[in-house]
Amino acid sequence: MKATVTIAGGGLAGLSLAAGLRLRGIPVEVHEAGSYPRHRVCGEFISGVDTSTLDALGIREALRDARLLESVAWFSKGRKIHEDTLSVPAYGISRHRLDCRLRDAVVGGGAAVLESSRVSRAPREGLVWAAGRIPSKGRWIGLKCHFADLPLLADLEMHLGSDGYAGLASVEDGRVNVCGLFRVDRSHRGSGPELLLDYLRAGGNEALASRLALALPDPASFSATAGFALGRQRADDGLCAIGDAESMIPPFTGNGMSMAFQSAEAALDPLAGWSEGHLDWNDCIASIRTALHGKFRRRLTAAAFMHPVLLRSGGRRLIEALGVSGLLPFRPLLSLVR
Ligand SMILES: Cc1cc2nc3c(=O)[nH]c(=O)nc-3n(C[C@H](O)[C@H](O)[C@H](O)COP(=O)(O)OP(=O)(O)OC[C@H]3O[C@@H](n4cnc5c(N)ncnc54)[C@H](O)[C@@H]3O)c2cc1C
Repeated sequence: MKATVTIAGGGLAGLSLAAGLRLRGIPVEVHEAGSYPRHRVCGEFISGVDTSTLDALGIREALRDARLLESVAWFSKGRKIHEDTLSVPAYGISRHRLDCRLRDAVVGGGAAVLESSRVSRAPREGLVWAAGRIPSKGRWIGLKCHFADLPLLADLEMHLGSDGYAGLASVEDGRVNVCGLFRVDRSHRGSGPELLLDYLRAGGNEALASRLALALPDPASFSATAGFALGRQRADDGLCAIGDAESMIPPFTGNGMSMAFQSAEAALDPLAGWSEGHLDWNDCIASIRTALHGKFRRRLTAAAFMHPVLLRSGGRRLIEALGVSGLLPFRPLLSLVR
C-alpha cells in the first residue's frame, strides 16, 4: 500500500511533480483552483533546465515543438545596449499550451487532476503546496499579451525602462509573448493590451510601444497579476512547498519555470520515500527544504542583488555603459542566476 500524495496547484511545479511521481507508481491527486486551458502572466521563456530534469519528471515530450531561442538583445529605453547568444537554447512555448499538455500527461499517467478545486492552506501529512506565489502587499504588476505580426530583433528582446522591464519572445503559431514587470502606478487607466502599452510608454519605451501598436494583439491572451513579493515566500508555516510557493526568482532571469521543474524533481525521492513508508512526513519535508535551499540559494541571492540594479537609474546607466563598450559580462552574470 502506497500513500497518496495530494498536490495543491496544477501549475508547472504541481503538474510536473505529479507526472514524475506517477512514473514511479506513486498515487497522486492534483487540485487546481482554476481550469485549463488558460493564459497566465509569464514570459513563456524557459531557460536553464536540463533535459535530465525533464526526463526524471517524464515531461520532455510536452516541449517537443517548443521554439528554440538563442539570440538575445538588451535595450535600455529603446537603445540597444547588448547582443549575445545563449550557450544553451531556451524553450519558447505558451502556458496556454504547456499547462494543458502537462495536465494531459498527468491524467494519461493515471492521476486525477481536479479542476475548480481550491485547497485550504493548512499543513497536513501528504499535502504538497504548489499553489504559486503567496499573495502579499508587493508593489509589482505583471502584464502579458500575445501579439501576431510582430517582427523581432532577436529571439529574446529585453527592454529596460524606468518603471520596470519587458521581454519579447516567440511562442507557437507565429505569436510573440510580450510580458513585463512594472512598479504599480495607479495613474495608468488603460485596460487590456492598452495598459501594457501605457506602462511601456511611461517607462521610456515609446519605441517599443509604437512597434506593438502596429502589431496585432490577442486580447484573449491578456493577463495581469499584482500583489506578490519576489524572493523567498513564507517557509516557516509547516507546509511542504515547491515552485513559486517556496521562492519566486525575479522574472528577468527567465528561470522561474525551470525552478518549478527542478523543485519538483528535488521532491520526487523524499515523497516516494514517504508514500512507500520509508520516510516520516516531517523528515520528508526537511529533506525537500534542504534540497531546495542548496539548489537555489546562490541564484536567488544573485538575482535579488541584480534586480534593483536593473530598476535604478544609476544601475541602468552602468549597464548601458558596460553594454555599449562591450564590457557587459552577460554570460557570467547569467550563470549566476542558473
Ligand atoms: C511578469 C512575470 C514574468 C515571468 N516570466 C517568466 C519567464 O519568462 N520564464 C520563466 O521561467 N518564468 C517566468 N516567470 C515566473 C513563472 O511564471 C513562475 O516561476 C512559474 O509559473 C511557477 O510555477 P508554479 O507551478 O510554482 O506556480 P503557478 O504557475 O503560479 O501555478 C500555481 C497554480 O496553483 C493554483 N492555485 C492557487 N491557489 C490554489 C489553491 N488554494 N488550491 C489549488 N490550486 C491553487 C493556481 O491556479 C495555479 O494554476 C514570470 C513571472 C512573472 C510574474
